Order: sequence, then structure tokens, then C-alpha cells
Amino acid sequence: MTTATRPRIACLIGWPAAHSRSPLIHHYWLRKLGIEGGYSIEAVPPEGFSDFVRRLSAHGFIGANVTIPHKERALALSLPDARARAVGAANTLWIESGELRSTNTDVEGFLANLDACAAGWDSAEEALVLGAGGAARAVVFGLIERGIKRIRLVNRTMERAQSLADQFGASVHVSAWDTIGEQLAHAGLLINTTSLGMHGQPALDIDVGRLPLQAVVADLVYAPLDTPLLVAARAKGLKTADGLGMLLYQAVRGFELWFGQRPQVTAELRRLVEADLART
Ligand code: NAP
Repeated sequence: MTTATRPRIACLIGWPAAHSRSPLIHHYWLRKLGIEGGYSIEAVPPEGFSDFVRRLSAHGFIGANVTIPHKERALALSLPDARARAVGAANTLWIESGELRSTNTDVEGFLANLDACAAGWDSAEEALVLGAGGAARAVVFGLIERGIKRIRLVNRTMERAQSLADQFGASVHVSAWDTIGEQLAHAGLLINTTSLGMHGQPALDIDVGRLPLQAVVADLVYAPLDTPLLVAARAKGLKTADGLGMLLYQAVRGFELWFGQRPQVTAELRRLVEADLART
């Protein structure tokens, strides 16, 4: 079999290679689009990561998703685009003209999900972002890319928020965690990028009733699917965007880069992944 006729195979590289929904998502699209290809999970320890990635093609892969703890190393070993550089981590690798390239698809996953759930969200004057970890970097970069003029950043550890703000420039303003209540009244968009609300974590204790009536609420947490924050926002009649939507949309770009067709995030795919999440 020649390289041209060999089925295209991508993989997820992690350590431990946790139970990921990526194979489910990519196999669904391969089936739907009638593409002969595959997507596997590769458990690679930190000490073996550089060698594995350098020999990605020799291992038979056309590209990869990268997850904990390899995302920063993946950035250093590849030619990153502006999104991966800004986020400081790469989650998608592909080979182009013999070079290993990388991007961070959380940015477009976040933006595409909001576009799908709350069209017009980017007319908000101010966004309130809770959290300052890796996911917050992708969110802040995406908000700036879409022209949100004022981003209020609040994190439990204020120094971490300050260093993120220093990186992203004048549109990002840091406030203390205990001022969230006051910030809500100005926020056309509220985004939870902390792990609060996740199974096993305390809920995010804020009063969404203080948000403007047209506000949009996004939560990156997807386990559970209906976080206390989203449930409260919907009860107030606010538009919401959930973490599963972001997870599905972030997978689109990798698939397109590896298999050459842009797949659709459908209700059927969502139901499939929802059912899988419900089993664990
Ligand atoms: P991370 O880098 O570890 O950051 C965690 C954030 O949560 C930090 O801002 C941390 O604050 C905050 N936090 C944790 N416990 C807290 C508490 N008890 N009170 C207040 N703040 C708390 O993690 P990450 O990669 O950014 O991920 C954050 C969340 O986003 C996770 O739930 C992850 O599953 C989710 N996520 C979802 C998607 C998606 O596609 N839907 C993509 C990426 C991430 P400190 O700085 O003070 O510790």
C-alpha cells in the first residue's frame, strides 16, 4: 500500500491516556463522511513524548491531539500558529510540507459554540471571565479576536489573573474574586472557565439575577452537562452556551486538517457524546 492509498490515522497523545471522547467524535465524522481513516489513543509518558512526536509520521500518524501533560511540550516541538502561541499550549498537531505544525483549537471551539448558541453575543460591551488557567487564556484570546472591548478578569489567585492580563494588553482588567457580585451588572457576557461546578467541586456561588437581561452565559465545564450556573441562567431566561458544545466544536479543525473535509457538529453527534458522558 502506498502512502497515498494508506488510510489516514490520527491519534490522541496523553499520559495517562484518560478516557477521552475524541475517538467517539472523530469516528462518528469518519463514518458520516465515508472517509477511510482512524483515530486511536496513544499513552505516551513525558520522557517518551519528544521522540514520539518527532517520529509521528513513522508511527503511521498524519496528526494528533495532545492532552495533559504534553500541551506545552507540543508547542515547543512544533511550529505554532498565533492561537497556540497566545494560549501557551498546543492541542492539535499536523504535518504540512514536511513540518510539524500546531494550533490550539479551544479558541475556535469556544467562539463557534457561542455563535451557534447565542448569535450576536459579540455585540456585548463587556465580558466577565472567571478563572485564569489554560482555558481562560483561550477564551480571552478569542474574545479579543472577536472585538470585545472590555474584558473583566476575576480569579481566586489574583496574581495569575494579573499575569494573564499583562500578556493580553489594555482591554483586560483584573478585579478581586470578592467583587464578582458588583461586576455582574456590567457583563453582557459571563464565562466560567474555572473548575467550579464540575462533579466533585463546589458550585459557582453567584447571583445571575444581577446580570443584564440580554446577557449570555457560557460555562466550559461539561461534567455535569447542566451545571448549576447554566441551570440558574436559563431559569432567568438568559441565553447559554455549554461546555459540551465547546468540546465538539474544538474537534472540527483537527478533523479538517487531518482528513481534508470540514465536519458538522450535529444534534445526533451531541446525543452520542451526551449518552457516553452519562455512562461515566
Ligand atoms: P486550570 O489551568 O487548572 O485552571 C483552573 C481554574 O479554576 C483556575 O483559574 C483556578 O483558580 C480555578 N479554580 C479551581 N478551583 C477553584 C475554587 N475552589 N475556587 C475558585 N477558583 C477555582 O484548568 P483549565 O485547563 O483552565 O480548565 C478549567 C475548566 O475548563 C475545567 O473544568 C476544564 O474541564 C474546562 N475546559 C473545558 C473545555 C471544553 O472544551 N469545554 C476546554 C478546556 C477546559 P486558581 O488560579 O486560583 O487556582
